[in-house]
Amino acid sequence: MDFSFTPEQESLRLEVREFLQKEVTDESRLDFKYDRPYSPDTKSLFRKLGERGWLCPVWPKEWGGLGASALTNYVIQDELALAFAPTPFAVIGAMVVGPTLLMYGNEQQKNEYLPRIARGEIEFSMGYTEPGSGSDLASLSIRADDKGDHYLVNGQKMFSTKADFADYGWLAVRTDPDNPKKHKGISLLIVDLKNTPGITINRIYNMSGYHSCEVFYDDVRIPKENLVGELNQGFYIIGAALLFERAVTISGFHRPLEVLVDYVKNTRRGGKLLSEDPLVRRKLAEIEMKFAVAKVVALRLAWMQEHKMFALNETAIAKLLSTEMVYDLANVGTQIMGLYGGLVADSNYAELKGWIAHMYQESPHYKIAGGTSEIQRQIISTRGLGLPRG
Ligand SMILES: Cc1cc2nc3c(=O)[nH]c(=O)nc-3n(C[C@H](O)[C@H](O)[C@H](O)COP(=O)(O)OP(=O)(O)OC[C@H]3O[C@@H](n4cnc5c(N)ncnc54)[C@H](O)[C@@H]3O)c2cc1C
Repeated sequence: MDFSFTPEQESLRLEVREFLQKEVTDESRLDFKYDRPYSPDTKSLFRKLGERGWLCPVWPKEWGGLGASALTNYVIQDELALAFAPTPFAVIGAMVVGPTLLMYGNEQQKNEYLPRIARGEIEFSMGYTEPGSGSDLASLSIRADDKGDHYLVNGQKMFSTKADFADYGWLAVRTDPDNPKKHKGISLLIVDLKNTPGITINRIYNMSGYHSCEVFYDDVRIPKENLVGELNQGFYIIGAALLFERAVTISGFHRPLEVLVDYVKNTRRGGKLLSEDPLVRRKLAEIEMKFAVAKVVALRLAWMQEHKMFALNETAIAKLLSTEMVYDLANVGTQIMGLYGGLVADSNYAELKGWIAHMYQESPHYKIAGGTSEIQRQIISTRGLGLPRG
């Protein structure tokens, strides 16, 4: 089996790499790492990526893309991830909302949002999760009551990442509370987060210093034209959007492994290099093996996207493998570094700038955001293996 890219794709890879080496600053990397409001560096980076069509390469040219193939997109994503740049995989407009609007949005919505997303001018925040509804999204309770020319929205969302600086919300609401089939009473609305009265946004921090938001909607009027797709069909639209969200790229996850390999080659404990310790070698070899498997799966997923194949099971496998791999890597890293593995960046004794300790704090969230590992296993067991629902 040959996974090589075409000469044109390889030359594009070099072009993107060279561009990113010049344009990505530490400031932007921190924005990305902590989901901070975008700094001027990051805004400028998005504009430049947008000018080149690299934010949404697979979109048709009329909407600001390049009409490129999924494999060309993979090459660009790979380089963005390797540069620790704010990749479209972490940019909700380009990654989730835009591709879903291409499938379900009407012409007015496409005209209004797609070109601005592709130019890197606007960002979205996803509002699915609520205090009582996460994995079981069909149980969500925020209401949107029909008031003629608008919906009146009341309720709360939880973990709406980027809501504190995004321009728009991508909001799942209940529009038919009487339907006993709960998933058939949900719709999807776009909400102008910056200019709509009645919205309160508070930050909530987790143990890695990263923050998300809780968002309260009190008598919020959302125009009817902001309904995406058909009324009460939101659950299915979110299903499509989640596939875009879960198709994570993998190459960026290899960098921490390379850093650790370098560390063990150059660090002595008790007079011996760490790289001479068979346990250390075995643990790193296991991570390398997991990475290799995850990469093949990610490439196959890109190939399936290229051939317009439905990839629910494969997307779940890709998300599960890559996020669990990062989690394992962070654990192995802290074990290998011993007591130094627990020191964060501002300690005088921190090694590798406290990077591994930070990864250890951060990596559990990859296994939760975008659907937990247990939910991915559910999808694999039902869709992949045909087992009945538990
Ligand atoms: C960093 C981060 C960013 C996030 N960003 C966003 C965002 O931008 N927008 C948004 O809407 N949400 C966001 N989320 C929320 C995320 O999607 C939910 O946390 C996730 O879907 C789980 O929901 P929950 O927290 O309610 O946990 P629950 O659904 O209550 O799950 C609790 C535990 O039970 C397990 N469980 C639940 N159901 C089953 C089942 N059927 N079978 C087996 N095990 C099960 C889960 O795996 C989990 O371990 C984010 C979360 C994190 C951590």
